[in-house]
Amino acid sequence: MKLHEYQSKQIFSRYGIPIPKGRVATTAGEARHIADELGGRVVIKSQVLVGGRGKAGGIRVAKDADEAEQLAAQILAMEIKGLPVRKILVDEAAAIDQEIYLGITNDRAAKAPVIIASAAGGIDIEEVAKTNPEKIIRVHINPLVGIKDYQTRDIAAGIDLPREYWKSFNEILKGLWECYDSNDATLAEINPLIISHDKRLVALDGKMLIDDNALFRHPDLSEMRDTDEDAPSEVEARKYGLTFIKLDGNIGCMVNGAGLAMASMDILKYFGGEPANFLDIGGGAGAEKVVAALRIILADPNVKAILLNIFGGITRCDEVARGILTAIAEVKPKIPMVVRLVGTNAEEGRQILANASLITAETLADAAKKAVAAARGD
Ligand code: GDP
Ligand code: MN
Repeated sequence: MKLHEYQSKQIFSRYGIPIPKGRVATTAGEARHIADELGGRVVIKSQVLVGGRGKAGGIRVAKDADEAEQLAAQILAMEIKGLPVRKILVDEAAAIDQEIYLGITNDRAAKAPVIIASAAGGIDIEEVAKTNPEKIIRVHINPLVGIKDYQTRDIAAGIDLPREYWKSFNEILKGLWECYDSNDATLAEINPLIISHDKRLVALDGKMLIDDNALFRHPDLSEMRDTDEDAPSEVEARKYGLTFIKLDGNIGCMVNGAGLAMASMDILKYFGGEPANFLDIGGGAGAEKVVAALRIILADPNVKAILLNIFGGITRCDEVARGILTAIAEVKPKIPMVVRLVGTNAEEGRQILANASLITAETLADAAKKAVAAARGD
């Protein structure tokens, strides 16, 4: 789950990371009001869940409350990379001497979190990573030990940070690690971390990604979710506790178990098909979940065939079969559906489905071949 800049910065500040004074607004009038409170000179920042807002014109500095109102109105009328701007952050404007990049993410190859830092932060950091990779420093963290002072000093020296900022940098980096670790983040990023004209380090931008699978233990973070940028089908699936990811292919997949769902997609691809989604209905899924799942799959106009691959364990095939019948009665699909049921109560399941017009298959390979053929219209 992505957090907005204003949400990330609020969390940062709880971990002692300095952020500019500011508040969120949804109208130009409110923006003017906030600018007045902050003394006039403010920066108006679109809050959309994509990067590169600055380059897209979604970050503008205003010299007084009048201009703040004007710019706020302009930005609130914008769409950035397809996302409408519904909220803006009005922050006290900063005078910038230097922009530093500082982030923590998960390095899958190293199986460890990694700190990434660069003296050349700001909106061109991706370009720096490509053209001057030596300007980017990486230091791995042992999560059991956390960050040690010698590491923050190494990084400060590595980015040529003047000595007077080392103490503050040490606190910020440790705060960022706490923030990353205790919120189960997969990214905690400050870009830019600035050296201000009045000689302070301040987090001017903030970005956090939270591991969806850890959200159950962070109800406060779950509440921050903005579903604006999610595919509507994914939002719907979440309501029913289904793990659903929309993809670009034309074969809808309904499978129980994440591993089996991955295997089903692999096999579809092996036989020349393209899955339209990843969908794990979960263990012990009853009829209600199956109905919701089928409705979600069928709402995708690209879907030309459906593969249902159910391996009954805790999930009972007869229960799933009843769900399929209910779903068919409810949504009346006009596309071919290939069903493979094995495991607990598979025989009962097949009997329940005997009169439905479904294509049945014995093995996963057989089911995949039939689904690929059906999607082609063979
Ligand atoms: P992003 O483009 O989505 O990463 O948005 P940022 O919040 O990082 O802003 C982009 C750029 O706008 C920053 O790198 C700064 O150069 C500039 N910027 C942001 N806030 C301020 C500010 O308060 N004062 C000034 N002068 N520039 C700012
Ligand atoms: Mn930024």
